[in-house]
Amino acid sequence: KVTASKQAIEMEDKHGAHNYHPLPVVLSKGKGVHVWDVEGKKYYDFLSAYSAVNQGHCHPKIVKAMHDQASTLSLTSRAFHNDILGPYEKYITEYFKFDKVLPMNTGAEAVETAIKIARKWAYEKKGVEEKKAQIIVCENNFHGRTTTVISFSNDENARKNFGPYTPGFIKIPYNDIDALKEALQSSDNIAGFLVEPIQGEAGVFTPADDYMKQAKDLCNKHNALFIADEIQTGIARTGGLLAVCGNCDCQAHCERQDTYTRPDLLILGKALSGGNYPVSAVLADNEVMNVIKPGQHGSTFGGNPVAGAVAIAALDVVKDEHLIQNARKLGDLFRSELNKYIEQTDLVSLVRGRGLLNAIVINDSEESSTAWDICMALRDNGLLAKPTHGNIIRFAPPLVMTEDELLDCVAIIVKTLKQF
Ligand code: PLP
Repeated sequence: KVTASKQAIEMEDKHGAHNYHPLPVVLSKGKGVHVWDVEGKKYYDFLSAYSAVNQGHCHPKIVKAMHDQASTLSLTSRAFHNDILGPYEKYITEYFKFDKVLPMNTGAEAVETAIKIARKWAYEKKGVEEKKAQIIVCENNFHGRTTTVISFSNDENARKNFGPYTPGFIKIPYNDIDALKEALQSSDNIAGFLVEPIQGEAGVFTPADDYMKQAKDLCNKHNALFIADEIQTGIARTGGLLAVCGNCDCQAHCERQDTYTRPDLLILGKALSGGNYPVSAVLADNEVMNVIKPGQHGSTFGGNPVAGAVAIAALDVVKDEHLIQNARKLGDLFRSELNKYIEQTDLVSLVRGRGLLNAIVINDSEESSTAWDICMALRDNGLLAKPTHGNIIRFAPPLVMTEDELLDCVAIIVKTLKQF
């Protein structure tokens, strides 16, 4: 029998570039923590579009803001002003407590933007000799797919035959403060250190609690910018407004010195729109951001009225619905419930993560198909998740989940793992 799913997959296969390897499920509807396939089967979404849908699918407040703005004024370009951009810029800079924002669309674009700002700052403020600026990055990073960004990836599949690569990056091991110290000492040309507070794509690799703080202190000492890519970890996902907020669970960005490691450049994307629209941003204080002058950077869609309206609504939802606290509470519950099962099995070696960004590591080689097979069985049992690397499965549900729903999901996961 030819199903709608089969037809949809065949069409993609025939007419679309083969740049992804999706789980075979064809979705046609989403609401809150659930999605439905074209045959009407209901699933828990346990990926949230790589942490973009933190506020849940089709959140009515965000959809309304998008609809209202789209039917009033959708795009002016930055050739003219629009009446949403200013209020949006005021709102987001107050929300995250920075002087200025540079609005873009996708995550990779925002990373590129931060790299450009950091280099310009290095030449114009730090006094680095032209074309000599270096940015320190980490092994196993994931910052997107553009030519410059893959230039400093060490995922061979992402890099191979896309050269020549952009120079100017120094790669060091993640979560290794001595390596950072050495790299910063090695040259006077360091513009900054670009880092994910938790490496999501690498398999939710969570560094030592004081790694961010020590890294920031070292950057300060060497007059280099501390650049946090919070595209996946930010906006409540890990149980803080940002993952660099560490153990602080206050509603707003309180700048508590003991927990918050304030970046010099903050990169946001994904959940900035609740997954409704491509919205990304780079935030910084004047001293850094003001190196950018008219004509030096931009995007036709960056800062468009729909993006501004959607982002305001999406950030409102995070506060109004206490998503930071919920991610923190449910994350603790998720790991403790899953650990009860893991203690009794050899199949899973550990669950790790913070808030509702977690992963389990399957006791099998990276080349084995066990994690993929488990995700297929999870799908059959009504929950959608995807391996990050061969033997690691990421679990990142929308943050609007209730405790009962989370326990239901844990039961599905444990039942499925017991099938293996
Ligand atoms: N940086 C991080 C940490 C990410 O997780 C991602 C996407 O997964 C990106 C950058 C790239 O974002 P985008 O896919 O919107 O370009």
